[in-house]
Amino acid sequence: MSPVIPIHAESGACASSPAVHTERGQREVFCGLTGIIWLHRKIQDAFFLVVGSRTCAHLIQSAAGVMIFAEPRFGTAIIDERDLAGLADANEELDKVVHKLLTRRPDIRTLFLVGSCPSEVIKLDLSRAAERLSRVHNPAVRVLNYSGSGIETTFTQGEDACLQAMVPVLPTLAPKSPKRLMVVGTLADIVEDQLLRLLHDMGIERVDFFPPRNSTLLPDIGADTVFLLAQPFLADTSVALLARGAQRLPAPFPLGVEGTTAWLQAAATAFGVSDQVFEQVTQAPKQRAMAALARQRPQLEGKKIFFFPDSQLEIPLARFLHRELGMTLGEIGTPYLHRKLMAEELAWLPEGCRITEGQHVENQLDRCHAEAPDLVVCGLGLANPLEAQGLATKWAIELVFTPIQGYEQAPDLAELFCRPLRRRIKLAA
Ligand code: SF4
Repeated sequence: MSPVIPIHAESGACASSPAVHTERGQREVFCGLTGIIWLHRKIQDAFFLVVGSRTCAHLIQSAAGVMIFAEPRFGTAIIDERDLAGLADANEELDKVVHKLLTRRPDIRTLFLVGSCPSEVIKLDLSRAAERLSRVHNPAVRVLNYSGSGIETTFTQGEDACLQAMVPVLPTLAPKSPKRLMVVGTLADIVEDQLLRLLHDMGIERVDFFPPRNSTLLPDIGADTVFLLAQPFLADTSVALLARGAQRLPAPFPLGVEGTTAWLQAAATAFGVSDQVFEQVTQAPKQRAMAALARQRPQLEGKKIFFFPDSQLEIPLARFLHRELGMTLGEIGTPYLHRKLMAEELAWLPEGCRITEGQHVENQLDRCHAEAPDLVVCGLGLANPLEAQGLATKWAIELVFTPIQGYEQAPDLAELFCRPLRRRIKLAA
């Protein structure tokens, strides 16, 4: 059995940990409410009720592009200014809103109360509200809560908080059950189906995805569960799963050919799949993806990329773009660096690369201009000003909304970086 694919010496991989600079200051990043946009598409019988202000309602509606005739599976209970004495009323109002919602939408099986940052909301104890409402609406609806507040969470941390809230209600796997694999992190259904097919073809039969498409079909968990993270921003969920007795399989993330192969290899090794079977199953999709990437490489090779901190996907993306497409790495910003979860990715970064954890946006903008990268990955708020200053940008949010994991998606992922460069060339012509 071969271990996770080796780090190629010729790629200039890091022999030691890369330099990490930590900074604090003004941040330009979405809050965790944004996660609702992909979570509500994934968990098809859940509803996300933001307990927040009009600002929260505007953010979530404009980010999700709500259609007026659609029956969305998220909404906002707007809590106006009130003093502490008015909290009883706020709880009563919340109960009324929930009752009305659940009466009108009998398809809802799990209701998430999502906290936000206005002080009126912080004063409300949403975990007690969730317990109270769960008792009232049990067994038809389970009510859970988490915070998507901009004070506590950035962008993708909303998903981490949501999944962490679900871990305690996962059923317990009977002792001495056959080993199960849990794939953790929201993936597009098409990616999930492809990865499941590959795992099944290797002979790994018992595979669960968390979160599931249906919230009433929660996967069992216990000492015989091993899990693979499919997304890098799930540190708290990972801790909660470990506390339920599951074991994490260390692996890079399934981005690009190398990342996908190493990720699948971690599962194959844990389930005793032979090298021969692993090769048979992965060879064709791997070769297709490599051939497509080889065609795209000339557009990206030698181009310098700079990452502002946003989705926590920055390090795996930098690794993919450098190792498989020959891009030069400028600064790699990340909101948080979870060294344990990122260990395999960090080992694949080239010698001398620079990682910044946290953000002081003014200082970072100065460094970005000084580096004069060919492409900048950043949030929506920074993209337009940077474009106006002559820099090509890629919106980090697109990387979360687009299916990018696995072999079949590797060329689509590369294309997301080729497109803004082509556009800039056309504009300059
Ligand atoms: S949770 Fe906070 S940061 Fe997010 S939209 Fe609401 S008020 Fe703004």
